Amino acid sequence: MTELVIDGAFALLDEPPPGGRFAEASVLVQGRRIAAVATRVDDRAALRARATRIEDGRGHWLIPGLIDAHAHGYATLLRGTENAMPLELWALFTVLYGRAFTAATLRAAVLLGAAERIRAGITGWIDHSPMQHLADAAIAAHEASGLRVGYAPFLHDTGDETLLGVHLPPDVAGIAGGAPVLDPDAYAARFAEMVARAAGGSGRVRVLLGPNAPQRCSARAWALWRELRDRHGVAVHTHLMETRAQAEIGARLYPGGLVAAMAQEGLLDGNLSVAHGIWLSRAEREVLAAHGVTLVHNPASNLMLGSGILPLAESRDAGLPVALGTDSSNTGGRHDHFATMRLAMMLPRVADADHRTWPHGAEALAMATRNGAGVLDRAGELGRIAPGQLADLVLVRRGAAATLAFDASADALVQHAGPEHVTAAMVDGAWVLRDGRILAFDEAAALADAAEAMAALRTRTLAGRSTLAAAVPRHAASLGFRPA
Ligand SMILES: [Zn+2]
Repeated sequence: MTELVIDGAFALLDEPPPGGRFAEASVLVQGRRIAAVATRVDDRAALRARATRIEDGRGHWLIPGLIDAHAHGYATLLRGTENAMPLELWALFTVLYGRAFTAATLRAAVLLGAAERIRAGITGWIDHSPMQHLADAAIAAHEASGLRVGYAPFLHDTGDETLLGVHLPPDVAGIAGGAPVLDPDAYAARFAEMVARAAGGSGRVRVLLGPNAPQRCSARAWALWRELRDRHGVAVHTHLMETRAQAEIGARLYPGGLVAAMAQEGLLDGNLSVAHGIWLSRAEREVLAAHGVTLVHNPASNLMLGSGILPLAESRDAGLPVALGTDSSNTGGRHDHFATMRLAMMLPRVADADHRTWPHGAEALAMATRNGAGVLDRAGELGRIAPGQLADLVLVRRGAAATLAFDASADALVQHAGPEHVTAAMVDGAWVLRDGRILAFDEAAALADAAEAMAALRTRTLAGRSTLAAAVPRHAASLGFRPA
């Protein structure tokens, strides 16, 4: 077995929260895992003596691979499309595009997003996917990407227009409305196939259950959610309370509130992660925390859609672990966790005058690494640099024009580094990026495929886009977003 030592980088030490200290270290990787970490001079020399290969990490930070704990893989092909409207309007367009995907389109999207993530030091991510009919293509693409992925196919059977109590004109409903008809037996059979397919692969890709959002699931879908979770022992990932409209739906449809109903129906546990959670009440945050649920914060997406700002200090004070997500390319923009960490660090400072509650770089870094491990169904074995942990590691250059800093601290890293400083990334003990080159797959071919897939998608959705653009003013008015 290869024994690789990454030597001389300032490595993030494995310390209890808030953590965030770095020290010059030697890190021994054996197979898929980290076998030892040494910071004392003689211990480091002993590790180097054991190594069959040594990677020079001097002049770098060494951090656990960043975890993008909420995203939708298909959306990388939708860069530059409509994103100056709230979720309830924007969703019409994203649904239109999504329905035009083929297996080849989806593969192109996944690999484009993988290239972007690898270059940004993201080694693991959640692909919350509305395209379960293309699951085979998605899982194969995730395998080819070299990344660690939690693939969470949607489960839902109730459309937003039903929940919002509005009627879509027939031409709009046909291309962007409705919800799948749920056949629980067929869904369960298909889900079992996906779990088996992923289990037969490298081990890097795991299937999760991905209810679109609890309010978009009928009682029958909730029962299936519980049943499949328990039958397969999978983690669950869902959207929750992203917008004001969703909070109103929750309050209107569930006496006692949506989160209380989920608790009562046994949907809350330590293997559940929920994206957004902006509009949760204090009591709801406490219920989620009591069940060990992880909250995934998507600050860029929430700002772009005007959804609101997560009360981060209140979430932390309630005891909710918070991870970070980039969400869709056509909402959150770049899959760049350096930017996400900075937003997570800065946004609470506007809302709270008490600077003692403001998050530091160390907390942002923990959110982007170890707090995301459980979301990927890897709690306890990912997100830290420590013996026994999976070897998902990233080297970030310290001596660049933007990163040369007073100190090799988490504050300096989070405040100043970016994807352009990521020089190497490893997943499962294998380099996926080294010396600035993606090794996991042919990046140039992936970009060419993506460009071709985007062009085809543009053509296929041209008529639908004009239909939606014409319908948006009336739909906006019927939702109360603007006067008729
Ligand atoms: Zn999302």
